[in-house]
Amino acid sequence: MTDDTLLDRALIRLEKAASHLQIDQDVIEKLKYPRETTKTRLLIRMDDGSRKSFLAWRCRYDDTRGPTKGGIRFHPDSTIEEVETLAFWMTFKCAVMNLPYGGSKGAVRVDPRTLSKSELERLSRAYIQAFARTVGPDRDIPAPDVYTNAMIMGWMADEYSQIVGNVSPAVITGKPIALGGSLGRNDATARGGFYLVQHLARELGLDHAHSVAIQGFGNAGQYYARLTADAGNKVVAVSDSTGAIHRADGLDVEKLIAGKAAGASVTALAGEVGASVIEAADLIAVEADLLVPAALEDMITRQNAASIKARVVLELGNGPVTPDADGILDERGVVVLPDILANAGGVTVSYFEWVQNRQGFYWDLEEIHSRLLKIVEREGRAVWSIAQDRQVSMRTAAYIHALGRLATAIEAHGTQPFFTS
Ligand code: NAD
Repeated sequence: MTDDTLLDRALIRLEKAASHLQIDQDVIEKLKYPRETTKTRLLIRMDDGSRKSFLAWRCRYDDTRGPTKGGIRFHPDSTIEEVETLAFWMTFKCAVMNLPYGGSKGAVRVDPRTLSKSELERLSRAYIQAFARTVGPDRDIPAPDVYTNAMIMGWMADEYSQIVGNVSPAVITGKPIALGGSLGRNDATARGGFYLVQHLARELGLDHAHSVAIQGFGNAGQYYARLTADAGNKVVAVSDSTGAIHRADGLDVEKLIAGKAAGASVTALAGEVGASVIEAADLIAVEADLLVPAALEDMITRQNAASIKARVVLELGNGPVTPDADGILDERGVVVLPDILANAGGVTVSYFEWVQNRQGFYWDLEEIHSRLLKIVEREGRAVWSIAQDRQVSMRTAAYIHALGRLATAIEAHGTQPFFTS
């Protein structure tokens, strides 16, 4: 591993895509740096009467294509660099799907499991108090991310409404349905990835009963497991932060989801589903047609990429494959369906939520699913075609697709040749 930062490594993808396009240097100059990143400390009253402060950030990376959109993460290891990188990815993710948004991200450096429910509510409200002038339905629209959920979004939307003095549900997506959330948001990330795999299955060489290994059995991982198992595929291995389990004949996904909901780790459920416990690090090396990393960043690196047996990797998590691991997978003919396309179902249904909040008219689940399917198939097919035409990886193709849209928007304000001719 080099000492490049996470953002440096993300920018490698931008430069690679740019080398395939005739774009003005203005575009790269604009997209190389975040537009604004605000850092603050949230000071909250703890249950024992003491005060405690938590580092928090909000980054609006680029808003050329519309108000910025991006989740809020509560994590003890969050850093400004991670927030900026995630905001960069959001910029490209929204452009890949042609959503009228730029990209942003936020985080609080906290282990939410150490907070009581009341402390968690105070921290969530404090985040909005601190960033009330940054966020807004026409400016920057947060959503859930790792260790944040619908209830937290509901508190945040409520806090924002109190500050601005009117009910403003469109300021945040991923809210509870009762507070203006959209149907279909819960499983949208997994569903988007699932629709993508289904749509490209023939081209990817995946048959109707393929086997799947899932790293990270949280929101995205569990819903993917359910969707793929219901479609007749076999989930042969899953993992969480405590370890991994494997069963070559397929795992009982519903039992595992119920067990996780009751607070058990996947390894604690191994006996119940007749699985063997394996090292968490060995999950990516199990025999499976499809590997789904759905945990955190940098899970597949130069050190372990060669051990992957799957022919296709679906990045439901953000940034699980490092650029040097990309090279190894490319050489071995493993197709990586990149995060900015593979997990964009979440932000797409978030967009639907925002649209519904603004129009005050709500769609049924069938409409949500059919609109999501249409967008995933349209953009997935476009990225596949770019990859074939230019003989590049799906990742480079996705960046080319997104960068083309961003460049068109940035260049519409005038470029160097325009101002100097
Ligand atoms: P989550 O917190 O619900 O789940 C994460 C899971 O990963 C947990 O089960 C955790 O135990 C597991 N994990 C952590 N470290 C691990 C390790 N070293 N090995 C194996 N498992 C490990 O989070 P989520 O919402 O499912 O998000 C997962 C990924 O998907 C993140 O990268 C997130 O940014 C991305 N994502 C999520 C959404 C969404 O709508 N939820 C949308 C887009 C992208």
